[in-house]
Order: sequence, then structure tokens, then C-alpha cells
Amino acid sequence: MISKLLLILRIIVSVSALAIITMALTSIGCTIPVVAGWLERVQLMPAILSFSLVTFIGWLIVTLIFGRIYCSSVCPLGTLQDIAAKCVRTGRRTPRHDYHYSKPLNSIRYFTLIVVLTCLMASIFVIPSILDPFTAYARICQEVIKPLYELITGNVADTADTPWWSAAPFRMGTAAVAGASVAIITLLLVCWIAARNGRTICNTVCPVGTTLGFISRFSIFQIDIDTDKCIQCRKCEHVCKASCIDLIDHVVDGSRCVNCFNCINVCPNDAIHYWPRRKQLSIPMMQRIEELRRTPETSLDQNASNLNVSPKIDNTDETVS
Ligand code: SF4
Ligand code: SF4
Ligand code: SF4
Repeated sequence: MISKLLLILRIIVSVSALAIITMALTSIGCTIPVVAGWLERVQLMPAILSFSLVTFIGWLIVTLIFGRIYCSSVCPLGTLQDIAAKCVRTGRRTPRHDYHYSKPLNSIRYFTLIVVLTCLMASIFVIPSILDPFTAYARICQEVIKPLYELITGNVADTADTPWWSAAPFRMGTAAVAGASVAIITLLLVCWIAARNGRTICNTVCPVGTTLGFISRFSIFQIDIDTDKCIQCRKCEHVCKASCIDLIDHVVDGSRCVNCFNCINVCPNDAIHYWPRRKQLSIPMMQRIEELRRTPETSLDQNASNLNVSPKIDNTDETVS
């Protein structure tokens, strides 16, 4: 019940934040100025650039307690990725659409973060502006969504002598064309990667995600697998858009988990939770069983002696006694 509530709350907050930010940035529809202003102020990279220590430290504390809530609630690029991933999976539950665990690409993560920090210190803003998720989404809104909306509704062709094809986005200078090109490429790339592999961008090139990941791996509340209850059905792994559930070792990579709460809602045996406890009492035993399973050509006695456990196996409950 609580897991369902967390999931619903996460979806409502993230979609509302995305809608409000989009309306504010494009001037389409009626936004809520106070909320839109607040949502823009709590974005991490703009807060860092404007030396807003309160926002920065506030998010670090929230992350230390709850994990990467920022990535599952107020980041518009994160929600955009979720929507792209959901679009290709709705109604299709084939293995091709399942997510799978992958090892963290730490070298790319840290390299990108170092490049962004170096650029910021050298006052070079081109690369950070491309990699900062909020700036990238703001560019998409202003260079793609808004002109497209104007084109479709004909708002820019109000003057009688302005043909529709000379209106935005075609009526642009060189700088604007460059900006629009970056925005279009960003949008296509983000949606394509998200549709294929979920939150890969969040866990490889996003400097904000990498920074939060340093903290979230030590967060108090984490996704935790109860190895006494886990039946290895892999349902949680297949819905994990961050590809961070390792069912061999029964651990969840807290630095990559984006707190989407998908996993805790699909477990058939109530074995995965979001809580401050750690329930991995059987890990050594489960790992031994996994190793036994993965080496069928080796005799059971050999495996057992290698692992220094008794070879007796109780077939009824699959525990090594
Ligand atoms: S990792 Fe980056 S792009 Fe992904 S949700 Fe977090 S801040 Fe946004
Ligand atoms: S869904 Fe539950 S039972 Fe299945 S592998 Fe994940 S934690 Fe284990
Ligand atoms: S571990 Fe669970 S909550 Fe974290 S990203 Fe994966 S599915 Fe979402």
C-alpha cells in the first residue's frame, strides 16, 4: 500500500513539475508563476552557478536522507526520459523491452563531471550549458516546443504579409539556428537513449546525477532487498530504468537509483523495500547457491568443498545446510 502511494506521489509530482516548468518556459497555457518560479529556483546547476548555497546544501541533505529524490521529482529532463521510455513500453511487455542490470560506467561519469567543473572554473559555459539538464530542457522548450506550437497554432503568422514558412522556427539568425540545432539534437538523443535504455543519460553523462550519486550511495533510506524472501523472479530488475539492481549479489546501487519506486511495486513476495534498514542476512548463503548454479559442470561436492560448506542440500527449500 505504501509502495503504491510512493509511486503515485512520484508520478504526480514529476509530471506536475514538468508541466509547470514547460508552460513557464514556453508561455503556453496558464502556468502558476509562484510554483514555476520556485521550481526554477530549486534546480541544482542553476543554483550552483548563482552561488545559491541554501538550495545546493538543501538538496545534499535531502539526498543524504532520501536518495536521488531530485531525479524522480523536479528534474524536467528526468521526467522527459521517463515519458519517452514509457511510450515505447506501453502495451508491450516483451523481453526486448525489459531492463537489465549493467555495471556502472564510472569512468564516463567522473570524466564528464571533471570536464564540467573544469569548464565552470575556467568560465567556459558552452559545455556545462549542454550537459546541465535544466538548461538543456529550457533550450528544448524555447527552441523546439514553443516555435512548433506557434507554427501549429499560427500565432506568429498573424501579420498578413508574413507567410507561415517564414515564421518560427524558420525565421532565425545564425546563432538561433545553432541553438535550435543543439536543442533538436538534444531532444532526439535524450528520447532515443531513454526509449532504449531508460535512465542511461542520468547515470553516465549528467553531472548533477553524478554529484548526487556520491551522496545517495550513503543515503539513510535506500532500496533494499530482503534476501530471505527474494525468489529470484527478476521482475524488479526488469522494471529498473536505472539498471542498478544486481540480483547476483542482491544489492542495489544507491548511487544510480533514481527513486522511481517501480521495483517495490512489482515484487511478488514483498522482498524489496524502500526503508532505512538493511535486510540481507542470507547474502553469503545466497551467493553460494548462485555460484553453485552457475557452475553446473563442476560437481556439487567440489563446489561445496571450494566454498567450504557441507554438500547436503535440502531440495524442499533450496538452502545449503
Ligand atoms: S541524473 Fe540529471 S538528467 Fe537525470 S534526473 Fe537527475 S538531474 Fe535530471
Ligand atoms: S521482484 Fe522481489 S522476489 Fe523477484 S527478484 Fe526482485 S526482490 Fe526478488
Ligand atoms: S532500484 Fe527501484 S527505485 Fe531505484 S531506479 Fe531501480 S526500479 Fe527505480
